[in-house]
Amino acid sequence: MSVFSAPSFRDHEEVVFHADPEVGLKAIIAIHDTTLGPALGGLRMWDYGDDAAALEDALRLSRGMTYKAALAGLHYGGGKAVIMGDPGRDKTPALLASFADAVEALAGRYITAEDVGISTADLAIIRSRTKHAAGYADGGSGDPSPVTAWGVFHAIRAALAHRFGADGLEGRTVAVQGLGHVGAHLVRFLSEAGARVLVADIDPARVAAMVATLGAEAVPVEQIHKVPADVFAPCALGAGLNDTTIPELGAAIVAGAANNQLAEGRHGEVLAARGILYVPDYAANAGGIININYEGPDYDAEAAFAHAARIGGTVREILRRAEAEGLATNRIADQIAEARIAEARAGRDLRLAG
Ligand code: NAD
Repeated sequence: MSVFSAPSFRDHEEVVFHADPEVGLKAIIAIHDTTLGPALGGLRMWDYGDDAAALEDALRLSRGMTYKAALAGLHYGGGKAVIMGDPGRDKTPALLASFADAVEALAGRYITAEDVGISTADLAIIRSRTKHAAGYADGGSGDPSPVTAWGVFHAIRAALAHRFGADGLEGRTVAVQGLGHVGAHLVRFLSEAGARVLVADIDPARVAAMVATLGAEAVPVEQIHKVPADVFAPCALGAGLNDTTIPELGAAIVAGAANNQLAEGRHGEVLAARGILYVPDYAANAGGIININYEGPDYDAEAAFAHAARIGGTVREILRRAEAEGLATNRIADQIAEARIAEARAGRDLRLAG
């Protein structure tokens, strides 16, 4: 397995491979870029088929965090950690503690948080051994998912305004794929705003809950991206927009919470060629990292929600520029993020030289 020449290695500052056979831990911590601040990114626990798949995921996700923090105007860099294993089977307090020790050894260059397979309770265990953990429940900013969903809701409104000239949800149809922590809150915000909401999840109980409590309409998992809708909101796993699914999309707009929605960057152009307005994933789903920005004893949920609502303005700017410059929306988002990092790097170099 190659590391430096791995397709996703691109400019990572540091990658840590941490093993602790006594507790069954195999973890990778990827630090992509710390120009804007310490590398912040969640910990994912997943039953990866092999080491290469785990490394690829860590590298892709950590680079994405650099761009997400930069676009959101936050003073964080990008990082991500993965633990190889089935969270239901392999997760133990001893394993989490050993991971925490690896984070502590990085002395604040990497700040960990919750991601797929990790709960706020797990984070409390990690937090008991390292202060470089964010988003924990007791005295921290807690579960970021409602704030993430609020940011996605405002990204959807911005896209509706761009496409249809009005950002109202009344009379609009939104198809939500994945009803987990973020998806369920998003369905609530959309329903309360008057949208017709179509939902799908591989877990039938989650679908049943949304149908019973919010009047959502169930759609089979393999149909949700195909159904005619104004908006398709991917809120499950990544790489859902690819050569197979894009020609099948039934919505005019794609805006959702999932990380790394495009299988490859070129799929931004494929979506644009089909006339589908794509809201770059890391612009829409920055609410989680914005919430962590308010972490601490004075955590202010109202301020975090208000900040996440400003994602709407960022999205409007991206969509306007993409149209004006004839470029795919993901390219414009990347350009804005890269410009912010370059500016910070130039400032830092000037200070060092002076
Ligand atoms: P989650 O694990 O709570 O929910 C994911 C849901 O998707 C689950 O209900 C799962 O059953 C469902 N699912 C999986 N595969 C599916 C499929 N093929 N079709 C339909 N449903 C499927 O995760 P989450 O915290 O809600 O996050 C959702 C996505 O948003 C992830 O990609 C995550 O990385 C991203 N994200 C989350 C946050 C946050 O604050 N939680 C922030 C930024 C980005």
